[in-house]
Amino acid sequence: MKVAVIGAGAAGCFCAIALRRLLPDCAVEVYEAGPRPLRKVAVTGGGRCNLTNSFEGISRLQEAYPRGWQLMKRALGAFSAEDTRAWFEREGVRLVTQPDGCVFPRSQDAMEIVHTLLRLMETLGVRVSCNRRIGNIREVDADALVVTTGGGALQLLEGSGVALEPTVPSLFTFNLGDDPVRALAGTVVENATAALAGTKFRASGPLLVTDWGMSGPAILKLSSYGARYLAEQGYRAQLLVGWLGEAGDAQVRGELEALLAANPRKQLSSVRPEALTARLWLHLLQKCGIKAETRCAEAGPRMLARLTEVLQRDSYSICGKSKFKEEFVTCGGVSLRDVDLQTLASKSCPGLYFAGEVLDVDAITGGFNLQAAWSTAMLAARGIAADLKQ
Ligand SMILES: Cc1cc2nc3c(=O)[nH]c(=O)nc-3n(C[C@H](O)[C@H](O)[C@H](O)COP(=O)(O)OP(=O)(O)OC[C@H]3O[C@@H](n4cnc5c(N)ncnc54)[C@H](O)[C@@H]3O)c2cc1C
Repeated sequence: MKVAVIGAGAAGCFCAIALRRLLPDCAVEVYEAGPRPLRKVAVTGGGRCNLTNSFEGISRLQEAYPRGWQLMKRALGAFSAEDTRAWFEREGVRLVTQPDGCVFPRSQDAMEIVHTLLRLMETLGVRVSCNRRIGNIREVDADALVVTTGGGALQLLEGSGVALEPTVPSLFTFNLGDDPVRALAGTVVENATAALAGTKFRASGPLLVTDWGMSGPAILKLSSYGARYLAEQGYRAQLLVGWLGEAGDAQVRGELEALLAANPRKQLSSVRPEALTARLWLHLLQKCGIKAETRCAEAGPRMLARLTEVLQRDSYSICGKSKFKEEFVTCGGVSLRDVDLQTLASKSCPGLYFAGEVLDVDAITGGFNLQAAWSTAMLAARGIAADLKQ
């Protein structure tokens, strides 16, 4: 028996290792278009490899996996983040979990993950053919075939009947044209909200003003939640920033009133909500047409309403996207409607399986994308093992 794996990335290599352990008598061959396996893993997490997450900050799986969360529920049930940690630790990789839930090798070196996977493939006798780009799955002769080609290369499925969801990028920062806020580049607000006007897409977390627009976890999450919508809009949309986090309008207005009442003789320029830098506050005052020299006692109900509005729904025109540290993932791919969610077998093409980013599954940053690669690879390996043993 032979199983072929197309793509030696995180999902392909992990799947190949699991297959050799589950089916010791079965030959496993991995075809890789590039010159070496695991090239992307080597650069993940800025070279540190954020390989999974504790999931402690995630209350609903949709928050981490805007696409494919139903599949991830099953996949994590079969091979969880805890299983991933135990798996790598058993193979000698010591791990560390950051306060934000991100898990890295203690060495802070992605190459430790690469070398561990390469060593296991060699020990278990997985054959890897590099510089071997597969043009179409029909080229490969095997009892089972796993496609783990990542975000692109869907043309290799042409003629297979497999249903595909159009692919668009996810995880990017927003360009704000020549908006004056760019002069505040470097400003960080630890707990902001970001939303796309007229949609339900909304995210919270730290927000960073950059010299081209806005970035930071809140923006990256929003780019993930709204990836398909933003593509449809040609990356032109209205961004609404809440500078004081999740607080409601009444609370923000009440706190503003109290702040101004406590400092009646001071100028507005020198009295501001704690979360904001002086430069950002001045920018917001100017944006609502309020003179910075106005005394707090002179701020009437209309001024308070304007300030509350800008603190809660400060509006910016998105006019494009930029990469975030070269890190991105692909939204779309093999439609989950076409896949048996227990085994990751194609419903339309017998003997064909999928794992990793090639599936219509993608996540926010924080180790969730690699977790999807490990979990779906394990699910596919177990599915193949069960099917071939029959
Ligand atoms: C710079 C960067 C940093 C990232 N950092 C993190 C992080 O820290 N944590 C995290 O969770 N996620 C991170 N991600 C996302 C994560 O790396 C991917 O989600 C994950 O690598 C997907 O694994 P995969 O095996 O499905 O695909 P890939 O890793 O993309 O592997 C696919 C492989 O298939 C090969 N291939 C493609 N087409 C063919 C073909 N026709 N024939 C043969 N071979 C083919 C490719 O050459 C490639 O080696 C990062 C992404 C980038 C770009």
